[in-house]
Amino acid sequence: MDTIKDILDKLKSELPATVKLVAVSKFHPFESILQAYEAGQRIFAESRPQELSAKVAHASKLRQEYLANGGKGDYLNDIQWHFIGHLQTNKLKIVLPYASLVQSVDSLHLIEAIEKWGQQNDRVTDILLECHVSSDQSKQGFSSDELLDFLSGSIEYPHIHVRGVMGMATLTDDRNVIRDDFRKLTAMYDMLHDWLGESPNLPHSGALVKENSPWDVSEISMGMSDDYQIAVEEGSTMVRIGSLIFGARQY
Ligand SMILES: *Cc1c(COP(=O)(O)O)cnc(C)c1O
Repeated sequence: MDTIKDILDKLKSELPATVKLVAVSKFHPFESILQAYEAGQRIFAESRPQELSAKVAHASKLRQEYLANGGKGDYLNDIQWHFIGHLQTNKLKIVLPYASLVQSVDSLHLIEAIEKWGQQNDRVTDILLECHVSSDQSKQGFSSDELLDFLSGSIEYPHIHVRGVMGMATLTDDRNVIRDDFRKLTAMYDMLHDWLGESPNLPHSGALVKENSPWDVSEISMGMSDDYQIAVEEGSTMVRIGSLIFGARQY
């Protein structure tokens, strides 16, 4: 059987250098994260606030032990945690201090809550706007119209840094449907990028721009275990892969 390291090595050799690999460790034990970490993986994603904070605490405890035993360097301090699940506003305080990127920002209500938390804690949060591109009704996210409304709004969010979009394709075996969904997401990315990415000094794009911070809309997070190859062909910059690396999840 392939080890976690074997699979990561294979993925890394397969993915273009421009595509970041996010290891989705939700529902898997810390031991699995450690194996991936030791194989060089640094970006991990979790979908439940409590589980993220437990794993952050676990990493911190192991690091303390390592330092107490004379260890040096960044060991376990250089993990980047992404958050990819549904985020309720009452959970912000256990997620935002630890997440280097919140990929699943799916409503204006949540954006406003993150902005408020940022004001109170003097922190800027990097986010992706989760966009609804699949035909699954249950999926969260901004529609194209909602994204436009949001972009044309004149409200400022100085504690939020929008880095791009995230989306999931329809749950289907039809590769054409999946490819189409990814194209929809890429089109929404282009809209966001045109609006914010190129000309931060235009009045309409004053919204969201943090003073003196480089405006960097550059991420399209798409592709999971079953469809990442199509996503890469369609321009993904970040794939989120769970079961292929860690095996089936035990819910
Ligand atoms: C669970 C999850 C993944 C990983 O799915 P796999 O099919 O296990 O690769 C990716 N993205 C999101 C948003 C998820 O919730």
